[in-house]
Amino acid sequence: MDKEQKLKKIKEEVLSCKRCLLHKERFENKFYPVIGEGNHRASIMFVGEAPGLNEAKTGRPFCGAAGKILDELLESVNIKREDVYITNILKDRPPKNRDPQPEEIKACAPYLERQIEAINPKIICPLGRYSMRFLMEKFELEDQLAEISRIHGKSFKVNKFFYNFTLMPFYHPAVAAYNPNMKDILKEDFKVLKTLLEKILKEEEKRREEWEFEKRKMEDPFY
Ligand code: URA
Repeated sequence: MDKEQKLKKIKEEVLSCKRCLLHKERFENKFYPVIGEGNHRASIMFVGEAPGLNEAKTGRPFCGAAGKILDELLESVNIKREDVYITNILKDRPPKNRDPQPEEIKACAPYLERQIEAINPKIICPLGRYSMRFLMEKFELEDQLAEISRIHGKSFKVNKFFYNFTLMPFYHPAVAAYNPNMKDILKEDFKVLKTLLEKILKEEEKRREEWEFEKRKMEDPFY
């Protein structure tokens, strides 16, 4: 199955998912599941916690107040929203925006794992402590797990099975809604993200050039 087929299959499964009780809320309120959106070849994937009311009404991740802040952060480092992929651990909205429950995370997270596998991003950025904890435990980084205040904006390398990416946790953008200091911290972290992205893309370009050179040499020994 190619990337597009894998993502289409995930979408179809989520649309009819009843693995946890949150689907009842969805049907009763005529909400949408929020599966994820963005570039299927993205280098950066953002993982939030769960859809809020605006997201559940539209089916789009981060389209409310927290989304505006995320857009501002992306813009501050010249990264286009359409170049990244944005999703959440939970695809359905918990009632009254309560915190995700462990059994909901357990039921829903396999979709996220499959999205990560299909998109294969170079950098994954958990937004907030729930997705940070989930992803760090999932990818065997629990020994480096700490309060988000200590490890936001730091890089953790993951190289396991077919997964090969850098994990960089951020505060959830909603924390900046009423706190300009937090927005400044987030903006600094986004600068670190942008530097990391440029470094990774440069290394990739160098590897591609070396590979092209070797290929030409093999094809033409006088090259
Ligand atoms: N908060 C999240 O964690 N995800 C969204 O999609 C919106 C708000």
